[in-house]
Amino acid sequence: MSKTIAINAGSSSLKFTLYEMPAEEEIASGIIERIGLNNSIFTTKYAGEKYKVIEDIKNHEIAIQMVLDKLIELKVIANYEEITGVGHRVVAGGELFKDSALITDEVLAQIESLAEFAPLHNPANATGIKAFKKLLPNITSVAVFDTSFHTTMPKENYLYSLPMEYYTDFSARKYGAHGTSHKYVSERAAEMLGKPLEETKLITCHLGNGGSITAVKGGKSIDTSMGFTPLAGITMGTRTGDIDASLLPFLMNKLNITDINDMIYILNNKSGLLGLSHISSDMRDVEEAAEKGNEDAQTALDIFYNRVQKYIGQYFAILNGADAIVFTAGIGENSPETRQIIIDGMNWFGAEIDAEANNVRGKERIISTPESKVKVLLIPTDEEIMIARDVERLRA
Ligand code: ADP
Repeated sequence: MSKTIAINAGSSSLKFTLYEMPAEEEIASGIIERIGLNNSIFTTKYAGEKYKVIEDIKNHEIAIQMVLDKLIELKVIANYEEITGVGHRVVAGGELFKDSALITDEVLAQIESLAEFAPLHNPANATGIKAFKKLLPNITSVAVFDTSFHTTMPKENYLYSLPMEYYTDFSARKYGAHGTSHKYVSERAAEMLGKPLEETKLITCHLGNGGSITAVKGGKSIDTSMGFTPLAGITMGTRTGDIDASLLPFLMNKLNITDINDMIYILNNKSGLLGLSHISSDMRDVEEAAEKGNEDAQTALDIFYNRVQKYIGQYFAILNGADAIVFTAGIGENSPETRQIIIDGMNWFGAEIDAEANNVRGKERIISTPESKVKVLLIPTDEEIMIARDVERLRA
């Protein structure tokens, strides 16, 4: 038995989950928010209790030290050495990382060099890795990449129709994201369907604040809706999803924006459900406003459903049919309305929601009718357990 910790470090936050492995028993978890700002918030969950501390936490190293000390204080561990493995979520793995990797100095340097593809995320992930290495230098340390699962996409799906040398010279291509989540729900779906993963065809819909849809054939990603960055694909909380690139110079001209990065910032942070509704990026708020008759909120919802449906349609086409459509992440797990509206009208494709089975939040189950040829599944995602599993796999 050993304890393994899964770490998800953002630029100002750090989430952790501690597991007893190989039992896969979740022992404790928590989040530190507002790292580097004042009044940082440190929340730990252990044995059904929640512990909250508010104080200034200057950097990730101090944050991790606080996590470890808290685990000792709560008697979750007796000393640091009880933790024998750490897995770090890393957003961009480019074409370098087709699988998770043991973190060596070289791997760390490669993660940092990939910051070009994820300027906000990879440096933060690297900071988390370095801070952990300093405090626990001798434990098994593994990087798990959001993009690895999508490295199986064939060329026709990952290449843009740009001059070929942009790909060969600059690696300009689709990388996708949320890979760990799509992989987890695909594996669970195969079990729920009672079919070998290798024989399944799935359309997995990760609908959270960020959202992506993936076509999974035989357990391998063959196409996904996010692109070179997470900006592409469906309408999201604050992101546009797919738009015509020619709109950028047009809007920059209208808005007197001279720096393209300012425009991209708007596409990433001021658009999507938030930009359309001017209510919120949070689905719950938008649903509530629409219910009260706010027209723009209703339009935002309609566009969201429509974009998800279109991707599902595309993926039915390239997979030549599917065994199941899977819903996961915040919206996918918790909004029965979203699932119902998206699947309604897909009878022709063989998918039909069972309204009663669908009336549930956050529980793994089949939510299609018994007659439905294409099953519809609700599967709460678990990216952290995938990270812990990879630590075990690579430690061996
Ligand atoms: P992140 O991408 O930040 O991990 P999550 O997967 O937690 O996001 O998803 C957040 C989204 O899930 C938000 O839009 C939130 O409104 C939505 N959500 C959470 N609970 C519900 C609910 N009960 N009904 C509708 N949407 C919900």
